[in-house]
Amino acid sequence: METYESLLAAIVAETGDASTDPATDEVVGIAPARTPADLDRAVAAAHAAQPAWEALGHEKRSALLMDAADAVERSAAALAELISREQGKPLGGGAPSAMFEAGACAAWLRATASIELAPEVVIDDGETYATIEYKPVGVVGAIGPWNWPAMIAMWQIAPSLRMGNTVVVKPSEYTPLSVLALGAILGQVLPDGVVQVLSGGRELGAAFASHPGFGKIMFTGSTGTGKAIARSAADHLARVTLELGGNDAGIVLPDVDPAAVAPGLFWGAFINTGQTCAALKRLYVHEDVYDAVCDALVEVAAGAPLGHGVDDGVQLGPLTTAQQFGVVDRLVEDAKKSGARILLGGDPDRDAPGNFYPATLVADIAADRPLVTEEQFGPALPIIKYRDIDKAVEQANSVGVGLGGSVWSADREKARAVAGRIQTGTVWINQHGAVHPFVPFGGVKNSGYGVEFGVDGLKAVAVPQVING
Ligand code: NAD
Repeated sequence: METYESLLAAIVAETGDASTDPATDEVVGIAPARTPADLDRAVAAAHAAQPAWEALGHEKRSALLMDAADAVERSAAALAELISREQGKPLGGGAPSAMFEAGACAAWLRATASIELAPEVVIDDGETYATIEYKPVGVVGAIGPWNWPAMIAMWQIAPSLRMGNTVVVKPSEYTPLSVLALGAILGQVLPDGVVQVLSGGRELGAAFASHPGFGKIMFTGSTGTGKAIARSAADHLARVTLELGGNDAGIVLPDVDPAAVAPGLFWGAFINTGQTCAALKRLYVHEDVYDAVCDALVEVAAGAPLGHGVDDGVQLGPLTTAQQFGVVDRLVEDAKKSGARILLGGDPDRDAPGNFYPATLVADIAADRPLVTEEQFGPALPIIKYRDIDKAVEQANSVGVGLGGSVWSADREKARAVAGRIQTGTVWINQHGAVHPFVPFGGVKNSGYGVEFGVDGLKAVAVPQVING
């Protein structure tokens, strides 16, 4: 079992790119700045390792992945401290925390290793006999964001390895250490070349997307970068899964108990200080319960302490990047100027160290303000009043992205009927953002294409082979 210090010492370099703590602006460690030549070497090593990894077969591979999950669990406390210091989320505590993220890496790997994917008989009617079986694509290139650095890397790594691929991972330049640490822990158990993590910036990401050695690119990040990756990957026809940005709407029906739904609404929006792809980013509340829901949200928000993630009792951390602080600040200032009512927050100390932005609730905001129409990816929730459910659904569907959404009601069937009209990859009822290793997850419209998780997620990192006859 590692300590935080020994885990960090195993991955940092003498020179490279400094990764800083978003709460203090202090350097956490130096990540190696890898080059396209390093990528060539890593892809060659991944190709060299792949045939033996595939040849192990599902059973032996799954057993090794279970051992790797045990190794992650043994180092979870050290990994969590690194995630908290580098990304900013609370180390422990009530809200999904860095301990949750590190633990989820182990749990996700175990669950994915346990999924069965047997050959299917497609037709057997006496004339035609055809089966379909899923084979590895070869080497997967995985590019990730900074908000849930280790967990999202694991979402890409686990199915890829399970299917017999080898993987080369490029973490975000803002959170390289968390993913390098995860790679180092997996490397204690898995054969050389099976998982490699290369840290570097956008140029390295671009080199990944255009590298002919990858049979598949798994990408999680912004819509703009996703489109650039799809264009580059087209040159060599690499398969691509794109998990991109979202602007999830929640619709609250008039029959809810405001106090009962408020904690779920609040944490659906403010999980990880709002820096979650499928967080609740716009809330539509029926006029009958509007004031009561606003009051109940203020009460929950006022009880969620903001601070340095490693300090006791903190539930909301800083924004991971100064750039994201700027986005949230711009959107809230625009809302204020437009005459929207700030119920709480909206008053950051811009001169203090770190990227702290307080939890902000914005009422009586017009539906066309950028805080509603753009992805804020931070702790500021616009609350829009509606009278007519058709209008609320129309507004929920009016944006260019379609990752998640939610409907809140005392009547499950009524909620499910509204859910079916929302144009997103997932719609939750009376909750927002829950993911499960067996339940497919993905976006529509500009939120991307392809799904992760479950059997469909395994098929996404494989190629089908039909044997007919
Ligand atoms: P980003 O697109 O700026 O960066 C993501 C990764 O892409 C980084 O590793 C970066 O170095 C790399 N990159 C940058 N330019 C590249 C290029 N031209 N070619 C290849 N790679 C390149 O995204 P971000 O700011 O790190 O993440 C936030 C965004 O990610 C938000 O929009 C959020 O909604 C989205 N997100 C989506 C999901 C999902 O599952 N759908 C999950 C988490 C985050």
